Amino acid sequence: NGATLELRQAPDEILGLARSFNEMLFRLSGAWEQQRQFVGNVSHELRTPLSVIVGYLQSLLRRGDNLSPHQQQAVSTAAAEAERMTRMLQDLLDLARVDSGSLSFRQTPVMLNTLVVEVVQMTQTVTQRSIKVIATNDDVIASTDQDRLQQVLINLLDNAIKYSTDDANVELILEKTSEVALIHVRDQGVGIPLAHQKRIFERFYRVDEAMTRSRDGTGLGLAIAKSLTEGMHGRLSLRSRPGEGSEFTITLPLWQSPVS
Ligand code: ADP
Repeated sequence: NGATLELRQAPDEILGLARSFNEMLFRLSGAWEQQRQFVGNVSHELRTPLSVIVGYLQSLLRRGDNLSPHQQQAVSTAAAEAERMTRMLQDLLDLARVDSGSLSFRQTPVMLNTLVVEVVQMTQTVTQRSIKVIATNDDVIASTDQDRLQQVLINLLDNAIKYSTDDANVELILEKTSEVALIHVRDQGVGIPLAHQKRIFERFYRVDEAMTRSRDGTGLGLAIAKSLTEGMHGRLSLRSRPGEGSEFTITLPLWQSPVS
């Protein structure tokens, strides 16, 4: 009867559906892979011409006495934008590597007490802003990739400085529990409204175009910071209140020394 026919047909239909679904998935992942490669290749190819442009603009600026104030202004804006594009390309390359899984992480024991002080000193030198370090007296040894952790921390500190006024405090706090190491980057800056907090780690997401446009940035930094932290088996989280400030927290596994 009809019901049996239905039943006899159903598995075939479902099988058919499953087959088309799988094929669709296969094509989609192929398309995604192609797109990733495309972004990676384009970023790579654009870097060389861009560095030539930056070089020429900078040399024009260095011999600036032949330029009218208006020309000087134009050239310096062009140079700043070209440099921003260079950073964006570097970020896109990093993300392409994250996506392809070709980024490898070297998990080694890292003494965070030393690392945080080094990173803060570097950032202070570059930004000319003082950053307060509050670290536990205990040794905090995490299992992590030292270079990538530095990259993430520099990024968070740069943001903390960028999104707060010159006289506001920026703090880096290091602590540990019995299981994890915690590094907090705390600022008293503009803060991030709750509605944006979930999306802040998405690529190219920036809170308020009008407010952030003037501040140098690509909207890629936090996306990279999150991928890198997770690549090191850590977590990156955020607590923030608009008008009061933000606190980004990196949680890392402690190094378990092998039992001898
Ligand atoms: P970028 O800083 O290049 O715009 P990010 O990915 O680093 O990109 O940050 C994304 C957005 O998150 C920023 O545009 C800004 O709106 C917001 N943001 C990041 N860090 C902070 C912070 N410490 N305080 C306030 N807003 C922040």
